Amino acid sequence: MNAEDSRSDPSLKGRKIIIAIDGPAGAGKSTIARRLARHFGLLNLETGAMYRAFALKALRAKVPLDSSAPLEALAHGTKIRLEPGGDENRVLLDGEDVTRLIRTPAVTDAASRVSVFPAIRAWMVRLQQQVGAAGGVVMEGRDIGTVVFPHAQVKIFLDAAPEVRGQRRFEQLGQTGKVPEVQPQEVIRELHARDERDRNRADSPLKPAPDAVLLDSTNMSLEQAVAAAEAIVENRIQTAG
Ligand code: C5P
Repeated sequence: MNAEDSRSDPSLKGRKIIIAIDGPAGAGKSTIARRLARHFGLLNLETGAMYRAFALKALRAKVPLDSSAPLEALAHGTKIRLEPGGDENRVLLDGEDVTRLIRTPAVTDAASRVSVFPAIRAWMVRLQQQVGAAGGVVMEGRDIGTVVFPHAQVKIFLDAAPEVRGQRRFEQLGQTGKVPEVQPQEVIRELHARDERDRNRADSPLKPAPDAVLLDSTNMSLEQAVAAAEAIVENRIQTAG
């Protein structure tokens, strides 16, 4: 690599950096986190997938989702692994690859219910701190900059107007063919219910960390939002030296 190349190489691989991306559903977190990870040569870790995997286990075991004790008992002995790689994380639940099974509306709803319990969150946060400990990661979720990695070097809180987020989520579901039967109104309702739960729970509610940079993608194309997020990271890195 010559001097010219090394100046333009954006890789932050050796820097042990942690980039925290938080925000509500449908704001574009997953796509932006994935693109940032690729651009800066980092691992992309989706923490929502861990809550989803546990929710899938609770649904399968028919454990009630509205009280902590049975969920805690279920969590005991549950093994959830997040394997970064390619475009999406591989999610292993007790050794079973559940990557494709955790995106249904039922699991989505259940994930936001099991995630209100402090004991479940404490367990997840520990796991997330372990997977991100070595740094070199973009970690995406609801409480990464506030709770999981409060000392992350870069924190972005990504938001967008609720109608825009609902529409994006609907289009995303249609594109993947994962849930062909859902209606836009249903997706918007579900998103709104999850938002309320995430923002109003007592433990680690969804909110920007005081030192997060707010990025509102309501009037941005995906490419514009990605470019804005890259600029935020570059700016933070430069000012931090
Ligand atoms: O990000 P995703 O939509 O996959 O997350 C599913 C649910 O898991 C969210 O609605 C939220 O309730 C919960 N979650 C959380 N904290 C995180 C990530 C996800 O509470 N760090």
